[in-house]
Amino acid sequence: LLAVRDLEVSFGEDPVAVVHRVSFDLFPGERVAIVGQSGSGKSTIVGAILGLLPGDGRITNGSVSLHGSVSPGAAHATLELQAASEKRMRGIRGRRIGLVPQDPASNLNPSMKVGAQIDDALAGNVARNGLRTRAARQDRVVELMTEAGIPDAARRSRQFPHEFSGGMRQRMLIAIALASEPELLIADEPTSALDVTVQRQILNHLQALVDARGTTLLFITHDLGLAADRTDRIIVMSEGEIVEIGTPREILLNPQHEYTKRLVAAAP
Ligand code: ATP
Ligand code: MG
Repeated sequence: LLAVRDLEVSFGEDPVAVVHRVSFDLFPGERVAIVGQSGSGKSTIVGAILGLLPGDGRITNGSVSLHGSVSPGAAHATLELQAASEKRMRGIRGRRIGLVPQDPASNLNPSMKVGAQIDDALAGNVARNGLRTRAARQDRVVELMTEAGIPDAARRSRQFPHEFSGGMRQRMLIAIALASEPELLIADEPTSALDVTVQRQILNHLQALVDARGTTLLFITHDLGLAADRTDRIIVMSEGEIVEIGTPREILLNPQHEYTKRLVAAAP
């Protein structure tokens, strides 16, 4: 589904690479985790996959391809051309990749009712869901909220994000991400702002939704324990590079790299 090859991402005028030589594949239906400490480059990789790098971040080498549509590498494009095709890539990816972002506060529109925010996502995907009018989409809005574990969804769909608890806001972001029926769902530390019990509940819920749909999952976390419970393969990152890739068993029972060994020793 997704192929990342020799990816290098840099920031700044005098470019500094924060991600180097990153290569991995995601096969359809697979659940893969990227684990690494803060600043190791996890969100930067997500940004490169989505074609949405923050600031002046850009791909300075390698490529990301989704179903064979290759992202522009700096090596073979003028800046202008690159900007144009990046915009096109965002279009393509927007329809195929769903993102559950790290921070609910900055990713929900504070002045729009939550139901309307899901409706927007459904309206952007009419070609696939066939729900042409707002009235036709209403039931689906409530259904998606209920599926994401929000009780009393019909009433709550008319509320604003500030009327929701942190956990409920995170569930809203899951409902929005799934509304576009993505083939790939990327969850970037989706619950790091929540307490551990709520985190586990929400992640279990997210996993059940993904499994039921056969959606491919890329799960980003700094918590090896959370990753091991929920994925088929774990990619371990340190300082912008992949140090090891393996199944949860391989990583937990027989870690190869020094960094992974330390990570396993520190896991509860
Ligand atoms: P966390 O677990 O804290 O979310 P992360 O693994 O997602 O960390 P990234 O956000 O990918 O880490 O950051 C990787 C590196 O890229 C860091 O050194 C960071 O300072 C740098 N970086 C990220 N965004 C920018 C930016 N907009 N401008 C300059 N440097 C940036
Ligand atoms: Mg991050």
